[in-house]
Amino acid sequence: MSKSDVQTTPTEAGGLLLNGRTAIITGAGSGIGRAAALLLARNGAKIGLLDLIDKRTEEVEKAIREMGGEAEFYDVNVSDPQRMEQAIRSAAGRFGRIDIVFANAGINGTLSPIEDLSPEAWDETLSTNLKGTFLTMKYAVPHMKQAGGSVIITSSINGSRKFSGLGMSAYSASKAGQAAFAKMAALELARYKIRVNVICPGAIETSIGENTEHTKQLDKIRIPVVYPEGSQPLEHGPGRPEQVADLVLFLASDRSSHISGTEIYIDGAETLL
Ligand code: NAD
Repeated sequence: MSKSDVQTTPTEAGGLLLNGRTAIITGAGSGIGRAAALLLARNGAKIGLLDLIDKRTEEVEKAIREMGGEAEFYDVNVSDPQRMEQAIRSAAGRFGRIDIVFANAGINGTLSPIEDLSPEAWDETLSTNLKGTFLTMKYAVPHMKQAGGSVIITSSINGSRKFSGLGMSAYSASKAGQAAFAKMAALELARYKIRVNVICPGAIETSIGENTEHTKQLDKIRIPVVYPEGSQPLEHGPGRPEQVADLVLFLASDRSSHISGTEIYIDGAETLL
Protein backbone atom coordinates (compact mmCIF):
# COMPACT_ATOMS: atom_id res chain seq x y z
CA MET A 1 0.00 0.00 0.00
CA SER A 2 1.38 3.40 -0.91
CA LYS A 3 1.00 6.42 1.33
CA SER A 4 -1.29 8.13 -1.15
CA ASP A 5 -3.85 5.29 -0.95
CA VAL A 6 -5.15 6.55 2.37
CA GLN A 7 -5.74 10.21 3.06
CA THR A 8 -5.04 12.11 6.26
CA THR A 9 -7.11 14.93 7.67
CA PRO A 10 -4.97 17.40 9.62
CA THR A 11 -6.40 19.29 12.58
CA GLU A 12 -6.30 23.07 12.70
CA ALA A 13 -3.17 22.80 14.84
CA GLY A 14 -1.58 20.73 12.08
CA GLY A 15 -1.64 17.37 13.94
CA LEU A 16 -3.58 14.31 12.89
CA LEU A 17 -7.29 14.04 13.66
CA LEU A 18 -6.97 10.96 15.89
CA ASN A 19 -3.53 11.49 17.42
CA GLY A 20 -3.30 9.81 20.82
CA ARG A 21 -6.54 7.84 20.33
CA THR A 22 -7.03 4.08 20.33
CA ALA A 23 -9.71 2.31 18.30
CA ILE A 24 -11.13 -1.20 18.53
CA ILE A 25 -12.48 -2.42 15.19
CA THR A 26 -14.38 -5.69 14.72
CA GLY A 27 -14.42 -7.30 11.30
CA ALA A 28 -11.18 -5.44 10.66
CA GLY A 29 -9.73 -7.98 8.23
CA SER A 30 -11.93 -7.23 5.25
CA GLY A 31 -14.17 -4.77 3.46
CA ILE A 32 -15.48 -1.83 5.47
CA GLY A 33 -13.59 -2.75 8.66
CA ARG A 34 -10.29 -3.03 6.81
CA ALA A 35 -10.75 0.32 5.05
CA ALA A 36 -11.67 1.98 8.35
CA ALA A 37 -8.67 0.45 10.14
CA LEU A 38 -6.28 1.80 7.51
CA LEU A 39 -7.87 5.27 7.46
CA LEU A 40 -8.07 5.65 11.24
CA ALA A 41 -4.46 4.48 11.58
CA ARG A 42 -3.36 6.91 8.88
CA ASN A 43 -5.03 9.62 10.94
CA GLY A 44 -3.06 8.79 14.07
CA ALA A 45 -5.13 6.15 15.93
CA LYS A 46 -3.67 2.97 17.37
CA ILE A 47 -5.85 0.07 16.33
CA GLY A 48 -6.99 -3.19 17.96
CA LEU A 49 -7.98 -5.36 14.99
CA LEU A 50 -10.59 -7.98 15.94
CA ASP A 51 -11.63 -10.66 13.47
CA LEU A 52 -12.20 -14.36 12.98
CA ILE A 53 -9.84 -14.67 10.08
CA ASP A 54 -6.13 -14.43 10.79
CA LYS A 55 -4.33 -14.20 7.50
CA ARG A 56 -6.02 -11.21 5.97
CA THR A 57 -6.30 -9.41 9.32
CA GLU A 58 -2.58 -9.93 9.88
CA GLU A 59 -2.05 -8.27 6.49
CA VAL A 60 -3.96 -5.21 7.73
CA GLU A 61 -1.83 -5.23 10.90
CA LYS A 62 1.32 -5.38 8.75
CA ALA A 63 0.13 -2.56 6.45
CA ILE A 64 -0.52 -0.29 9.44
CA ARG A 65 2.88 -1.04 10.95
CA GLU A 66 4.53 -0.37 7.59
CA MET A 67 2.93 3.06 7.50
CA GLY A 68 4.45 3.77 10.93
CA GLY A 69 1.26 3.13 12.91
CA GLU A 70 0.48 0.78 15.79
CA ALA A 71 -1.89 -2.16 15.45
CA GLU A 72 -2.45 -5.56 17.04
CA PHE A 73 -4.59 -8.41 15.74
CA TYR A 74 -6.87 -10.25 18.17
CA ASP A 75 -8.36 -13.51 16.98
CA VAL A 76 -12.00 -13.49 18.14
CA ASN A 77 -15.47 -14.65 17.37
CA VAL A 78 -17.52 -11.58 18.29
CA SER A 79 -20.29 -13.78 19.68
CA ASP A 80 -17.99 -15.43 22.25
CA PRO A 81 -18.22 -13.42 25.51
CA GLN A 82 -15.10 -14.89 27.11
CA ARG A 83 -12.86 -14.29 24.13
CA MET A 84 -14.24 -10.78 23.57
CA GLU A 85 -13.67 -9.84 27.17
CA GLN A 86 -10.07 -11.12 27.01
CA ALA A 87 -9.26 -9.48 23.67
CA ILE A 88 -10.65 -6.07 24.59
CA ARG A 89 -8.91 -6.15 27.99
CA SER A 90 -5.63 -7.05 26.24
CA ALA A 91 -6.03 -4.22 23.72
CA ALA A 92 -6.84 -1.69 26.45
CA GLY A 93 -3.79 -2.89 28.37
CA ARG A 94 -1.48 -2.74 25.38
CA PHE A 95 -2.57 0.72 24.19
CA GLY A 96 -3.46 2.18 27.60
CA ARG A 97 -6.97 3.36 26.62
CA ILE A 98 -9.94 2.89 24.29
CA ASP A 99 -11.50 5.97 22.71
CA ILE A 100 -13.18 4.62 19.60
CA VAL A 101 -15.16 1.44 19.00
CA PHE A 102 -16.21 0.40 15.52
CA ALA A 103 -18.62 -2.54 15.99
CA ASN A 104 -18.68 -3.65 12.40
CA ALA A 105 -18.26 -7.45 12.11
CA GLY A 106 -21.22 -8.98 10.38
CA ILE A 107 -22.52 -11.74 8.14
CA ASN A 108 -25.40 -11.95 5.72
CA GLY A 109 -26.18 -15.36 7.18
CA THR A 110 -28.46 -17.92 5.60
CA LEU A 111 -30.75 -16.68 2.92
CA SER A 112 -34.11 -18.39 3.15
CA PRO A 113 -37.85 -17.95 3.17
CA ILE A 114 -39.00 -17.69 6.80
CA GLU A 115 -40.72 -21.07 6.92
CA ASP A 116 -37.52 -22.80 5.80
CA LEU A 117 -35.08 -20.84 7.96
CA SER A 118 -33.69 -23.07 10.70
CA PRO A 119 -33.58 -21.78 14.28
CA GLU A 120 -29.81 -22.46 14.20
CA ALA A 121 -29.36 -20.25 11.16
CA TRP A 122 -31.43 -17.50 12.81
CA ASP A 123 -29.24 -17.76 15.92
CA GLU A 124 -26.00 -17.59 13.93
CA THR A 125 -27.00 -14.32 12.26
CA LEU A 126 -28.36 -12.72 15.42
CA SER A 127 -25.36 -13.90 17.47
CA THR A 128 -22.82 -12.45 15.10
CA ASN A 129 -24.51 -9.21 14.16
CA LEU A 130 -26.50 -8.24 17.25
CA LYS A 131 -25.00 -10.10 20.20
CA GLY A 132 -21.54 -9.36 18.77
CA THR A 133 -22.35 -5.63 18.86
CA PHE A 134 -23.59 -5.90 22.43
CA LEU A 135 -20.49 -7.81 23.57
CA THR A 136 -18.14 -5.38 21.86
CA MET A 137 -19.74 -2.49 23.72
CA LYS A 138 -20.16 -4.38 26.99
CA TYR A 139 -16.44 -5.03 27.27
CA ALA A 140 -15.18 -1.75 25.75
CA VAL A 141 -17.36 0.74 27.63
CA PRO A 142 -15.64 0.26 31.02
CA HIS A 143 -12.41 1.40 29.36
CA MET A 144 -14.09 4.49 27.86
CA LYS A 145 -16.04 5.87 30.80
CA GLN A 146 -13.32 8.05 32.19
CA ALA A 147 -12.30 9.97 29.07
CA GLY A 148 -15.40 9.55 26.88
CA GLY A 149 -15.31 8.45 23.27
CA SER A 150 -17.19 7.41 20.16
CA VAL A 151 -18.91 4.16 19.23
CA ILE A 152 -19.89 3.51 15.63
CA ILE A 153 -22.07 0.51 14.75
CA THR A 154 -22.50 -0.84 11.23
CA SER A 155 -26.15 -1.57 10.60
CA SER A 156 -27.60 -1.51 7.06
CA ILE A 157 -30.31 0.01 4.91
CA ASN A 158 -31.85 -3.46 5.34
CA GLY A 159 -32.49 -2.67 9.00
CA SER A 160 -34.90 0.16 8.34
CA ARG A 161 -35.37 1.59 4.89
CA LYS A 162 -35.01 -0.93 2.14
CA PHE A 163 -35.99 -4.57 2.26
CA SER A 164 -35.30 -5.58 -1.31
CA GLY A 165 -33.13 -8.51 -0.23
CA LEU A 166 -35.91 -11.08 0.14
CA GLY A 167 -34.93 -14.02 2.30
CA MET A 168 -32.94 -11.78 4.64
CA SER A 169 -35.37 -11.72 7.56
CA ALA A 170 -32.76 -12.69 10.17
CA TYR A 171 -30.25 -10.20 8.77
CA SER A 172 -32.83 -7.39 8.73
CA ALA A 173 -33.93 -8.18 12.28
CA SER A 174 -30.31 -8.12 13.47
CA LYS A 175 -29.63 -4.81 11.73
CA ALA A 176 -32.81 -3.18 13.09
CA GLY A 177 -31.86 -4.50 16.53
CA GLN A 178 -28.45 -2.84 16.29
CA ALA A 179 -30.07 0.54 15.56
CA ALA A 180 -32.48 0.30 18.51
CA PHE A 181 -29.70 -0.89 20.81
CA ALA A 182 -27.52 2.05 19.73
CA LYS A 183 -30.20 4.61 20.59
CA MET A 184 -30.61 3.22 24.09
CA ALA A 185 -26.83 3.10 24.48
CA ALA A 186 -26.49 6.72 23.31
CA LEU A 187 -28.88 7.82 26.06
CA GLU A 188 -27.34 5.60 28.72
CA LEU A 189 -23.74 6.56 27.96
CA ALA A 190 -24.16 10.29 27.31
CA ARG A 191 -23.30 10.99 30.96
CA TYR A 192 -19.81 9.59 30.26
CA LYS A 193 -19.43 11.66 27.08
CA ILE A 194 -19.56 8.48 25.03
CA ARG A 195 -21.33 9.07 21.71
CA VAL A 196 -23.03 6.17 19.91
CA ASN A 197 -24.01 6.34 16.26
CA VAL A 198 -25.14 3.92 13.58
CA ILE A 199 -24.12 3.86 9.96
CA CYS A 200 -26.41 2.27 7.40
CA PRO A 201 -24.60 1.38 4.20
CA GLY A 202 -26.36 0.43 1.02
CA ALA A 203 -24.65 -2.07 -1.27
CA ILE A 204 -20.87 -1.78 -0.82
CA GLU A 205 -18.34 -3.73 -2.82
CA THR A 206 -16.87 -6.17 -0.26
CA SER A 207 -16.54 -9.92 0.13
CA ILE A 208 -19.56 -10.26 2.45
CA GLY A 209 -21.53 -12.29 -0.07
CA GLU A 210 -18.69 -14.66 -0.97
CA ASN A 211 -18.44 -18.25 0.21
CA THR A 212 -21.24 -17.99 2.71
CA GLU A 213 -24.32 -20.10 3.06
CA HIS A 214 -26.11 -17.05 1.74
CA THR A 215 -24.31 -17.17 -1.58
CA LYS A 216 -24.26 -20.96 -1.84
CA GLN A 217 -28.01 -20.94 -1.61
CA LEU A 218 -28.59 -18.29 -4.24
CA ASP A 219 -29.25 -20.88 -6.92
CA LYS A 220 -31.56 -22.92 -4.77
CA ILE A 221 -33.94 -20.43 -3.23
CA ARG A 222 -37.36 -19.73 -4.52
CA ILE A 223 -37.23 -15.95 -4.23
CA PRO A 224 -35.04 -13.47 -6.09
CA VAL A 225 -32.33 -11.47 -4.41
CA VAL A 226 -31.06 -8.61 -6.49
CA TYR A 227 -29.14 -5.43 -6.20
CA PRO A 228 -29.85 -4.24 -9.72
CA GLU A 229 -26.99 -2.67 -11.63
CA GLY A 230 -27.24 1.10 -11.29
CA SER A 231 -29.32 0.81 -8.13
CA GLN A 232 -27.40 3.65 -6.48
CA PRO A 233 -28.18 6.89 -8.37
CA LEU A 234 -24.97 8.56 -7.23
CA GLU A 235 -22.57 5.76 -8.12
CA HIS A 236 -24.41 3.69 -10.74
CA GLY A 237 -23.40 0.61 -8.76
CA PRO A 238 -22.20 -0.35 -5.29
CA GLY A 239 -20.21 2.03 -3.12
CA ARG A 240 -16.63 1.41 -1.99
CA PRO A 241 -15.45 0.50 1.53
CA GLU A 242 -13.19 3.58 1.52
CA GLN A 243 -16.25 5.83 1.16
CA VAL A 244 -17.75 4.27 4.28
CA ALA A 245 -14.41 4.62 6.09
CA ASP A 246 -14.54 8.41 5.53
CA LEU A 247 -17.83 8.51 7.45
CA VAL A 248 -16.36 6.35 10.22
CA LEU A 249 -13.41 8.75 10.54
CA PHE A 250 -15.77 11.71 10.88
CA LEU A 251 -17.88 9.96 13.54
CA ALA A 252 -14.77 8.76 15.38
CA SER A 253 -13.29 12.25 15.56
CA ASP A 254 -14.19 15.37 17.52
CA ARG A 255 -15.53 16.86 14.28
CA SER A 256 -18.78 15.06 15.15
CA SER A 257 -18.75 16.01 18.85
CA HIS A 258 -22.46 16.97 18.93
CA ILE A 259 -23.71 13.91 17.06
CA SER A 260 -25.02 10.94 19.05
CA GLY A 261 -27.93 8.51 18.83
CA THR A 262 -28.37 8.99 15.12
CA GLU A 263 -28.44 6.80 12.02
CA ILE A 264 -26.56 7.95 8.95
CA TYR A 265 -27.34 6.43 5.57
CA ILE A 266 -24.45 5.95 3.18
CA ASP A 267 -26.10 4.50 0.14
CA GLY A 268 -25.60 6.80 -2.85
CA ALA A 269 -29.31 7.74 -2.57
CA GLU A 270 -30.27 4.09 -3.17
CA THR A 271 -33.07 4.23 -0.60
CA LEU A 272 -34.76 7.12 -2.40
CA LEU A 273 -35.53 4.96 -5.40
P1 NAD B 1 -16.77 -8.43 4.79
O1 NAD B 1 -17.22 -9.85 4.71
O2 NAD B 1 -15.83 -7.92 3.76
O3 NAD B 1 -16.18 -8.12 6.24
C1 NAD B 1 -16.79 -8.62 7.41
C2 NAD B 1 -15.70 -9.03 8.38
O4 NAD B 1 -16.34 -9.49 9.59
C3 NAD B 1 -14.86 -10.20 7.85
O5 NAD B 1 -13.47 -9.89 7.99
C4 NAD B 1 -15.27 -11.37 8.72
O6 NAD B 1 -14.21 -12.31 8.95
C5 NAD B 1 -15.67 -10.67 10.02
N1 NAD B 1 -16.56 -11.50 10.80
C6 NAD B 1 -17.68 -12.16 10.40
N2 NAD B 1 -18.19 -12.88 11.40
C7 NAD B 1 -17.39 -12.67 12.47
C8 NAD B 1 -17.39 -13.15 13.80
N3 NAD B 1 -18.33 -13.99 14.24
N4 NAD B 1 -16.42 -12.73 14.64
C9 NAD B 1 -15.44 -11.89 14.22
N5 NAD B 1 -15.38 -11.40 12.96
C10 NAD B 1 -16.34 -11.80 12.10
O7 NAD B 1 -18.12 -7.57 4.77
P2 NAD B 1 -18.42 -6.01 4.89
O8 NAD B 1 -19.35 -5.72 3.78
O9 NAD B 1 -17.20 -5.21 5.05
O10 NAD B 1 -19.28 -6.02 6.23
C11 NAD B 1 -19.03 -5.18 7.32
C12 NAD B 1 -20.37 -4.77 7.93
O11 NAD B 1 -21.08 -3.98 6.97
C13 NAD B 1 -21.30 -5.93 8.28
O12 NAD B 1 -21.88 -5.68 9.54
C14 NAD B 1 -22.36 -5.88 7.20
O13 NAD B 1 -23.59 -6.39 7.62
C15 NAD B 1 -22.42 -4.40 6.94
N6 NAD B 1 -23.01 -4.02 5.66
C16 NAD B 1 -22.40 -4.39 4.49
C17 NAD B 1 -23.00 -4.01 3.28
C18 NAD B 1 -22.39 -4.39 1.95
O14 NAD B 1 -23.06 -4.26 0.93
N7 NAD B 1 -21.15 -4.86 1.91
C19 NAD B 1 -24.18 -3.27 3.28
C20 NAD B 1 -24.75 -2.90 4.49
C21 NAD B 1 -24.15 -3.28 5.68
